[in-house]
Amino acid sequence: MTLPRAVIVGASHAGAQLTASLRQEGWTGGIVLVGEESALPYQRPPLSKAYLAGKSTLDELAIRSSEFYIKQDIQILDATVETIDRSSGHLSLSTGVTLAYDKLALCTGARPRLLGTPGADLPGVYYLRTAADVELIREAAIAGRRAVIIGGGYIGLETAASLRTLGLEVTVLEAAERVLERVTAPEVSAFFDRIHREEGVNIRTGALVEVLTGDSRVREVILASGESIPADLVIVGIGVEPNTELAAATGLVVDDGVVIDDHARTSDPTIVAAGDCASHNMARYGRRIRLESVPSAGEQAKVAAATICGKSKKIAALPWFWSDQYDLKLQIAGLNTGYDEVVLSGDPTRDRDFTCFYLRAGELLAADCINRPRDFMSSKRVIAQQLPIDRAELMLANSA
Ligand code: FAD
Repeated sequence: MTLPRAVIVGASHAGAQLTASLRQEGWTGGIVLVGEESALPYQRPPLSKAYLAGKSTLDELAIRSSEFYIKQDIQILDATVETIDRSSGHLSLSTGVTLAYDKLALCTGARPRLLGTPGADLPGVYYLRTAADVELIREAAIAGRRAVIIGGGYIGLETAASLRTLGLEVTVLEAAERVLERVTAPEVSAFFDRIHREEGVNIRTGALVEVLTGDSRVREVILASGESIPADLVIVGIGVEPNTELAAATGLVVDDGVVIDDHARTSDPTIVAAGDCASHNMARYGRRIRLESVPSAGEQAKVAAATICGKSKKIAALPWFWSDQYDLKLQIAGLNTGYDEVVLSGDPTRDRDFTCFYLRAGELLAADCINRPRDFMSSKRVIAQQLPIDRAELMLANSA
């Protein structure tokens, strides 16, 4: 008798967790993890932090050791899955192999959104999603060179901090009126703006990039205002797009991500999906959300593994995130969408630790905690359990 085979497409945070969780849930059949990055699944968050700053090696970033996969009898294939034939249960791979599956999981993640401006394809213009991307950036990131970062989101700001550590001159160009505009309150944006300026980063908000020019390499970034910013290298961090083409081509429902239910099932209940490629209707927020975070990829993968094993787990955890810049550890509990009030504990115009609590109709929705791990832990609990809060107590909150 041949045992059933589970195939997971995409070997990163979600894919790696899914393989481990399948064994934990009692899956005794074959497990094949197909990934196109030619590396053992590795942690992506350090790419813009310790790895870019040269403080860690790729081996140190491995999510699990090669021995783990051997011991758990998990086969890793280095290939791109090109098509899915749902009627026969087969995948075609870039290597020419056709692979049969009994259970299928899509963990295809996301890719950087490309800059559409003329000159964006010049040598010396980089994106930052993979270890291979960082290796290219590191070759160019020599102390004293001028780096221009397009995008003042988390990736852009983390990259700015790492490049300052390496001794580069750094300019961040943000099209919006403030950095982190999409994700934080003005007070938090102003805090990060201040810190980066104090660390020597030239932050330019309201800066619309019109064209990149150069010869054999990029040499300058020209803004809509006509101003020219000299550049030895340019790093683009303007968001990501989910890798959904494979799912769409096989007829699965896609809506800014592969649509999944509470059990991580796609519109074909025999196929699950998890991680950055998946969009999930979160009852608490009353809408479909595609989260881009390691904790969420991990949780969805655990639920997907349980579903494959015929068990009933639900995606329910509170979203949370983190970002490291210089000596600052930002931890975010919950999603702040729809907040109508912020309460601050600490002084973001002066300190290097504070918490910004986001409230809606007096209920705590989310908290951005900077160097305040205790506030983060207690906020997670209060938000998850929807406990009542006292504004005065919030203002006095402290990690001490
Ligand atoms: P991904 O990590 O995108 O992996 C998907 C994998 O699937 C890729 O290897 C891709 O090549 C592969 N793939 C796609 N299609 C195919 C195919 N057809 N065949 C074979 N393989 C395929 N999150 C946090 O929570 N905290 C942080 O501090 C943080 N920092 C980050 C810093 C950087 C620089 C980046 C890039 C991301 C950061 N994130 C952070 C986000 C986090 O890394 C992602 O949420 C996480 O990687 C999602 O995991 P995933 O497995 O869903 O997808």
